[in-house]
Amino acid sequence: MDITEHFPELREHSATATRLHPRPGRPTTADSSVGGQLLWPADEPWPVCTDGDAHYIFELRTPATVRRSRQIYAAAQARAAASGAPYDLTEQERAEIPDYDFSEPHDLVDQPIPLVPVVQLYRRDVPDFAGPDGADLLQVLWCPLDHPEEGYNPRVRLYWRRSADVTRPLDAAPEPPVVNDAYLPIPCVVHPEQVREYQYAGLLPEQLRARITAWEEEAEEENEEDETGRSYHYDLSLAPGWKVGGFANWSLTDPHPMNCAECGTTMTLLLTADSSEWHGTGGTWRPVEEPADASSNPTDVSIGRGYALYVFRCPASFEHRPATAMQ
Ligand SMILES: [Zn+2]
Ligand SMILES: [Zn+2]
Repeated sequence: MDITEHFPELREHSATATRLHPRPGRPTTADSSVGGQLLWPADEPWPVCTDGDAHYIFELRTPATVRRSRQIYAAAQARAAASGAPYDLTEQERAEIPDYDFSEPHDLVDQPIPLVPVVQLYRRDVPDFAGPDGADLLQVLWCPLDHPEEGYNPRVRLYWRRSADVTRPLDAAPEPPVVNDAYLPIPCVVHPEQVREYQYAGLLPEQLRARITAWEEEAEEENEEDETGRSYHYDLSLAPGWKVGGFANWSLTDPHPMNCAECGTTMTLLLTADSSEWHGTGGTWRPVEEPADASSNPTDVSIGRGYALYVFRCPASFEHRPATAMQ
């Protein structure tokens, strides 16, 4: 449905976004990816976080343990799918998975923590790519631990480069000794798709918002029996999932201004890291290409209690620090 056929004035409150559609795979440094290997110059120091005990520390896992646990769960799921038997772990598998409240020693964070690759985007792949002139590569990394000053989220760092400048790439990224397992993405290849988004309802002019609400209620009444309806908020305005550009969905706290800490300019949404690619089971925004058993969270990244982390950039300068909001 093209919502602007009903509300042409929404065109003034729209923007494009590129949904990344991450799916587990083996991305190389030459690919756009989520959680993949970065094209990083061997002679450039890998960024680290030295916040030590200023982190909020909960359950720490080694990256190797996180990967092994995922392998075990995936194997059990595949067995269940193949045999039709209920999902279950073997004794041996169970023994390998750490207890729910297990943590590696907390003092392991008292050393420089290498950031982990979150997203690598080549300009050629992403219609909504934004970056300095000449840059064709955006790399997003984060510290895989909870930062109280970031709303108990990972701290994000952005790097733009010219891929042609990386003549001697790093073979393998250094690994953090421990992570919050929710912040270690499964390596995914991406399948970028540009969509048009419309502003979060709470940020539309009041009159327009009221007319949209009336139109939704009208549909609800017409379809009372089968309970289908139309929802601007869920189905027609903002795409869930990992995306570049577009608008933030402020439904957790209501909108709050994101102003650059360095110059005060109102920031724009650069990237969204989300805990789910679509709403509910078989909900709107689920790609038709997706196999029936596909997970709605292919990256296994989880923000808060299943929310999204919005990364904003300053439109005045790509050198100003990004800001984040969890919604
Ligand atoms: Zn940190
Ligand atoms: Zn700024």
